[in-house]
Amino acid sequence: MNNTETVYTIDILMERLMKDNKQYDISKIVSAYEFAATAHANQVRSSGEPYITHPLAVSYILLELGMDTDTICAGLLHDVVEDTDVTLDEIKKRYGQDVAMLVDGVTKLGKIPLFTKEEQQAENVRKILLAMSQDIRVIIIKLADRLHNMRTLQFRPAHKQRNTALETMNIYAPIAHRLGIKTIQDEIEDLAFRYLDPFAYSEIEQNLIIRSDERQAFIEKIKGQIAARFKELGLSEPQLSGRVKSIYGIYKKSYVMGKSLDEIYDVYAVRIIVNTVIECYNALGVIHDMYNPIPNRFKDYIATPKANMYQSLHTTVIGTEGIPFEVQIRTVDMNYTAEYGIAAHWKYKEGIKGKDKLESRLAWIRKIIEAQQESNDAEEIVRTIKSDLSPEDTFAFTPNGDIITLPAGATIIDFAYAIHTQVGNKMKGAKVDGKLVSLDYKLQTGEIVEILTSSDPNHGPNRAWLDIARTNEARSKIRSWFKKERREENIEQGKEDIEKEFRRNGINVPPEELADFLADDMKRHNCATLDDFYAAVGYGGIILSKIIQRLKDLYTKRYGTPAQPKLQTPASHHSGTGIVVGGEDNIDYKVAKCCSPLPGEDIIGFITKGHGLSIHRKDCQTYQKALETGEEPDRWIAVTWAETATSNDNPIFKATIDIVAKSNITLLADVCAITAEMRIPVTNISSKTLKNSNANLILTCSIAGVEQLHLLISKLKKLPDVMSADRVMK
Ligand code: MN
Repeated sequence: MNNTETVYTIDILMERLMKDNKQYDISKIVSAYEFAATAHANQVRSSGEPYITHPLAVSYILLELGMDTDTICAGLLHDVVEDTDVTLDEIKKRYGQDVAMLVDGVTKLGKIPLFTKEEQQAENVRKILLAMSQDIRVIIIKLADRLHNMRTLQFRPAHKQRNTALETMNIYAPIAHRLGIKTIQDEIEDLAFRYLDPFAYSEIEQNLIIRSDERQAFIEKIKGQIAARFKELGLSEPQLSGRVKSIYGIYKKSYVMGKSLDEIYDVYAVRIIVNTVIECYNALGVIHDMYNPIPNRFKDYIATPKANMYQSLHTTVIGTEGIPFEVQIRTVDMNYTAEYGIAAHWKYKEGIKGKDKLESRLAWIRKIIEAQQESNDAEEIVRTIKSDLSPEDTFAFTPNGDIITLPAGATIIDFAYAIHTQVGNKMKGAKVDGKLVSLDYKLQTGEIVEILTSSDPNHGPNRAWLDIARTNEARSKIRSWFKKERREENIEQGKEDIEKEFRRNGINVPPEELADFLADDMKRHNCATLDDFYAAVGYGGIILSKIIQRLKDLYTKRYGTPAQPKLQTPASHHSGTGIVVGGEDNIDYKVAKCCSPLPGEDIIGFITKGHGLSIHRKDCQTYQKALETGEEPDRWIAVTWAETATSNDNPIFKATIDIVAKSNITLLADVCAITAEMRIPVTNISSKTLKNSNANLILTCSIAGVEQLHLLISKLKKLPDVMSADRVMK
């Protein structure tokens, strides 16, 4: 349905009618045409064409959608009551109750002004929905009418073009989407977009024209590869089609995700149509075997259909040229529904369980109307109809009606940063649907969010936001704010951290020698000055626990053995559980067995599935691996030890020490004397003789914190026959 140039005639319509195998009442259609042509005889369109070309075009579109005789007749007659002297009664007498009802519905819809005040707009959308609930064919005719008006919009005055385009984008495209009529949705969106943002439209269009042969060749090649592989595997031959995404589709992607044309994965899409659901999943396996799938891009809309009944498997893979493309896999039935949505009920009546699908779509409309009548909130339905209910995304609105797309579970912090970095940084709170909410409020589709910003130039995000934000975009923006804007604070924090860590390790470097002492590490981390180094420690760019051992060795070389660190007095009474997450200290957690973190060590939290928070050391293999692969970044959260964590009697903190010594009859007694003197409970001890006749002692004890552990190890090492004593790291 892409021809914007065609001037429709009854001959074109007849030809198309004959092409279909369906049973139409041809004489009724011809009669309706003649009646309408006579009624509109003296009228012309803005294009200068006879008016009847418009109802003809509308009927042609309805015919292509597979609509029935009455709907096609109503399409031909849809403007006669409105624009001529013909009455509804006359239509009823000539063409029956159904056709008259459809024409009446479309006429009434045409009288609803959509762009007035906000409240009234809602009221008008409600009327559209009511009309839809009476007979869905009314809205399908209205969509066909709007499609042809959009195709011929260039003949209208400029200010009308914009209003019509806006109305199309805000009301008709979402309705087409909700009814699943993709063929109409795609075309009216592209057409509306062309008038709303002509510059962006032509930019994308130009970009697509460049190398369009190349693009086509790429798609053909992929199709060829897939067909060949299916044949090779003895699978039944699939229907393959390929395309470049619609212009508005590309715009939406690039706008929402802030990506350039080259970065949009699914500019290319290849569709594989098979016969059964099993074959769909088989085909997916074949595709993932042929090409490299991009992680987290697989979506199973077969198991979880979209709200508009759309079903398909989606995956994005990388082809042999390194070009990513989307693959959609679905059955023939699913494809009908994907293309024609609710209209598939008429088009393929016998082929699919149309009635069920029609029923569930109508149920959706009824549900909105009912909910709307109960709440009496007219804006509610505007939101519902505007929102694109895909299960994995949340669509929230700015007070101006702009849609912000966020992953499910996103908070107002994510929303604020999605609008603009500065909006996020200046946020002091937010109102959702007019009510103040807390920062961790999880947004729901359709909510209107107003971000309240501070005018204080020093206002910035809070470190706790890092734990609340759901999107990586928000988190990285918060982090970079701390890195850039809070240099002074970072320097102070870093300096404090270093002093504390040095004290703990008995390192006491004269201030004037500090820069020289740290020179090596400063160079490693590209820090020109001591302040740069402090700042890097402050915002977490340098992890002290990773470099402290080297610094200790260096200190010993230059200044001699570090002084005996003082043991911190354990807190006498403690509230909280020992760790702090975003300012909260009563959070339950477990220590991870893989790295057994101790109070005083740099830690990170992992939100497990169903077992609460698990604490790992930052240098733990598990965490380091997750950092490298970028897996599940959302589940790692910043945690710190509470002051109260350093406690001698918390049995969850354990450390295992591997001791190798020259065989000595008093070894075990000597080791136990030390633990007894330090009041460290030993939970397990085992010894064996190594092949070289040395003794190997494995000691597991409850440990208050990393300082106590270090002290214990240094005492063990001083025992006369001990050669090594090391903490066991898994
Ligand atoms: Mn019309």
